[in-house]
Amino acid sequence: MITGIKENLQKIKSNLPENVTLVAVSKTKPIADIQEAYDAGQRVFGENKIQEMVTKFDVLPKDIEWHMIGHLQRNKVKYMAHFVNLIHGVDSFKTLKEINKQAKKHDRIINCLLQARIAKEDTKFGLSFTDIEDILTSEELSELENVKVVGLMGMATFTDNQEQLTEEFLSLKTFFSKNQEKYPNLSTLSMGMSGDYQLAIEKGSNMVRIGSSIFGVRNYIV
Ligand SMILES: *Cc1c(COP(=O)(O)O)cnc(C)c1O
Repeated sequence: MITGIKENLQKIKSNLPENVTLVAVSKTKPIADIQEAYDAGQRVFGENKIQEMVTKFDVLPKDIEWHMIGHLQRNKVKYMAHFVNLIHGVDSFKTLKEINKQAKKHDRIINCLLQARIAKEDTKFGLSFTDIEDILTSEELSELENVKVVGLMGMATFTDNQEQLTEEFLSLKTFFSKNQEKYPNLSTLSMGMSGDYQLAIEKGSNMVRIGSSIFGVRNYIV
């Protein structure tokens, strides 16, 4: 079967600056598609449902780096704590605490990104910049030994308006850079999806989450 996954990947990768990590977003896509991307050299994959990611982890090669990019249900963190590499969508201190608790059971330190609310739409999850600063400065965070906040993640408004996207990406990049001076652990800025990743990179992203441009359109909206 010709799916073009390999070609899509090659095309995207050939245009990515070296410092930018590509997360191939495989949510809703079958194992065979992920295997095809893997065979083409891709090792970092993103899913937005914990159960689906666990199912895929179980059967796919173990050198895959799995990223959880979706909204987190705290009671399900335990199912991925033994293998998840990076959790992008952390939007509360409570969730960090739960990740810490589950990571501890496996003697791991789990890397996390705090999700910032940058979109004008009110449908997107995420923390305000003030909330993020509160978490980063809190005494309590330094007591969580099994989580490490390594950066920030943001989702821009679903729009073609380049000016608005630019403004949203730049606001997060500015905030990120400012905090990077105080918190050297912050190294990852995850922003940009199929429709807007080139602009996101131009505005300072170093991790892009790309699904449909690699695997084709999804059959249902998630
Ligand atoms: C689905 C998803 C993506 C990828 O979206 P595409 O438009 O298919 O590239 C990126 N980030 C998050 C958080 C997602 O849920």
